[in-house]
Amino acid sequence: MNYRGDLGMVLMDCHTHTEVSPDSEEKLSVMCRKAEELGLQAYAITNHVELCRYYPQEYYQTEARNEEDYFHYAQIWERAMQENQQAKALLSGKMEVISGIECGEPNADFGLAESVYRDRRLDFVIGSLHELPEKLDFYFLDYGKEDAEKLLEEYFSLLLEISKRECYDVLGHVTYPLRYMEGEAGMHLHMGKFKEMLAECFRQVILNHKGIELNTSGYRQKYGKPFPDRELLLLYRDLGGKILTLGSDAHTAEDLGKGITQGLALAKSCGFEKVCYFKKHEAHFIEV
Ligand SMILES: [Zn+2]
Ligand SMILES: [Zn+2]
Repeated sequence: MNYRGDLGMVLMDCHTHTEVSPDSEEKLSVMCRKAEELGLQAYAITNHVELCRYYPQEYYQTEARNEEDYFHYAQIWERAMQENQQAKALLSGKMEVISGIECGEPNADFGLAESVYRDRRLDFVIGSLHELPEKLDFYFLDYGKEDAEKLLEEYFSLLLEISKRECYDVLGHVTYPLRYMEGEAGMHLHMGKFKEMLAECFRQVILNHKGIELNTSGYRQKYGKPFPDRELLLLYRDLGGKILTLGSDAHTAEDLGKGITQGLALAKSCGFEKVCYFKKHEAHFIEV
């Protein structure tokens, strides 16, 4: 298969959602059509499976904290697996279709996260952190009232815990809180403070033969940069990190593939000669 698009660049999108995710309304058929139009060579569908709300609401004996507190992700997971099979049938022979999920908050139940990871229907798991225990998603926090540095410290120490477990192929958007802290709230944070914590996390990722993703959604948001940006990509690279996937985090067909060309150029300038996609939890490398 030819892995180069018209721009002479590899075209992949390894982080995408459909209406199976509570925060997307896009139909699978529309996403697949767009994937074909874009000439993607590798397309991973990675709908949300949040482990902190995996079971029905009654299990947690708690009230929904807001209208977006969606429970029973076990059901969503089943729907996601059916859809991934449909996508493989729809796009058969046209591109590599990767059956994935974005596993959110694996720290809520590592045993469960590891058994989800082992499900044979999956090629690829993005391990993500969107909220801290006892807190809402970073999207909802009021940064006028929160201690951002304390939140980041907790976030990166949880990310380190996740990096040690057999429940992910790549860590997703490792600087996710910055989308809101720096992007939306306009704060300026000194990331130097967290460099050693992130280095430890990256060392663990590399030791476990896992990777990180370059999430390009930040390019089209107020933040204006990917997650993570150049400095941390270089750190990962300097520590010996080689496994890097690229994903737009598209929740609509319009956003599919967005920022990937830019992300590839950044990866290349940081010394990555290859990027990859996953099949059956194995990295397949493609030259940039
Ligand atoms: Zn995410
Ligand atoms: Zn996502």
